[in-house]
Amino acid sequence: MKPSIRQTLLFLATCLATLPPLTHAAPAVSFDTASYSPSFIIKRDVVVLGGGASGTYAAIALRDRKKSVAVIEKQDYLGGHTNTYTDPASGKKIDYGVVLYEDIDIVKKFFARFDIPLTVANFSSQLTPYRVDFRTGKQVAGYTPADPTAGFGAYGAQLAKYAFLNEPGYDLPNPVPDDLLIPFGDFIKKYKIDSAVFTINEYAQGFGNLLEIPSLYVLRYFGTSTLAGFQAGFLTTARGNNGELYEKASKELGGDVFLSSTVIATLRTNNGVKLVIQTPQGLKLVIASKLIISAPPLVSNLAGFDLSTQERSLFQQWVTGAYYTSLVSDTGIPDIDSITNVGADTPYNLPPDAAVKSAIVATINRIKTASGIPGTTPSTPKFVAFNSHTPYELRVSSDAIKGGFYAQLNALQGAGGAKSTFYTGAAFARHGSGDVWAFTEGIVAGL
Ligand SMILES: Cc1cc2nc3c(=O)[nH]c(=O)nc-3n(C[C@H](O)[C@H](O)[C@H](O)COP(=O)(O)OP(=O)(O)OC[C@H]3O[C@@H](n4cnc5c(N)ncnc54)[C@H](O)[C@@H]3O)c2cc1C
Repeated sequence: MKPSIRQTLLFLATCLATLPPLTHAAPAVSFDTASYSPSFIIKRDVVVLGGGASGTYAAIALRDRKKSVAVIEKQDYLGGHTNTYTDPASGKKIDYGVVLYEDIDIVKKFFARFDIPLTVANFSSQLTPYRVDFRTGKQVAGYTPADPTAGFGAYGAQLAKYAFLNEPGYDLPNPVPDDLLIPFGDFIKKYKIDSAVFTINEYAQGFGNLLEIPSLYVLRYFGTSTLAGFQAGFLTTARGNNGELYEKASKELGGDVFLSSTVIATLRTNNGVKLVIQTPQGLKLVIASKLIISAPPLVSNLAGFDLSTQERSLFQQWVTGAYYTSLVSDTGIPDIDSITNVGADTPYNLPPDAAVKSAIVATINRIKTASGIPGTTPSTPKFVAFNSHTPYELRVSSDAIKGGFYAQLNALQGAGGAKSTFYTGAAFARHGSGDVWAFTEGIVAGL
């Protein structure tokens, strides 16, 4: 979450993006078991769409409750936004996706289940932090980071008013308090939390322009447990390998995980679901009593689904953010702990948006020529790893929130397209591994 602590130069570019719908030519599919050879028919208690943080947790929690599961994941690995790169030369692991965890019971239990030790993340560094405006590549003269203490105090006082924001899901009162609907930029001014804004923004990556989004999303994401993390410390894996959690889960789930697979068509009834999935081996038929959708519930993402009118109308309302991460070598910039993007002339010095790959290279080159950081050398930057986490952070407008969007969304659980369908994931919970796990635990326990 804090690129400044990474030992390898990590550029995170965030910008708002609206994704075009996927075009989807539907092949002829059959829900009839007679159309499939027996080994291509998968019968389970529960089928889980998506094997990221919430989907993997759901599958393991179901297994622990003696339910049989199948996980359908479009990528060739479990873990979603958790990406760990292994340097081929040294074997050293570098987490360049999920890095930190809140110090809460569910996090400790889930890691303990896989025998993975956690430790308090240490941000202290002997190396020089550089503050550079990425638009110019120049160091921002005279910039000193604001001490966020007073801002966090004022922010914490506001958070304390809204105990419901600590619930695992969006359990909002009716009417939704006006302050949660105003743009966060107005909230900052109203409650004088200026000095904490840069820090909140560093944590709330992938949210786009923080000043413009409904305050609800900032307060919900940067909530009481997050604030506590800033005060008492976050956890991270002691072995510096967050991917280990998902590797071990993947091994345990074995043949119940269908990687590089997508759903072509669904038939959901109140008594169960049938899913035709495209796997690397061909079409398979999954038959289950229940379906948990953990993948982001965008219409484009659920193209093969028999969505109800209500599901479609809710999922069409999402606005999405974008989030990219990469590891770059041969930057020509000496090994330094951090270069933080600081807007020289933007409100609260928030970093301006950036385009992605070409912008990263252009930024590195600008920094080399304009920053005056000693020891820079000519070189051609190389992408060692690059990941798109887009679309990210699904949210809706203030008007939709006011109009009861989340009450309608929550009403889909076990009742939306059919009584057999349940939802989890960040759109229903909020972003943060511990939070999606806590929400998922509630869904699984209620099945
Ligand atoms: C770069 C980055 C860094 C982060 N750092 C942290 C951190 O340090 N600490 C923290 O707690 N949180 C962090 N987060 C947030 C955290 O990763 C998310 O909140 C969490 O992953 C959300 O879980 P999820 O299950 O909703 O989504 P995901 O983990 O994204 O899982 C969704 C899964 O569904 C799959 N999928 C999508 N569509 C389909 C489809 N149509 N068919 C099949 N599969 C599909 C995806 O490939 C993915 O595996 C970070 C996020 C990002 C992007």
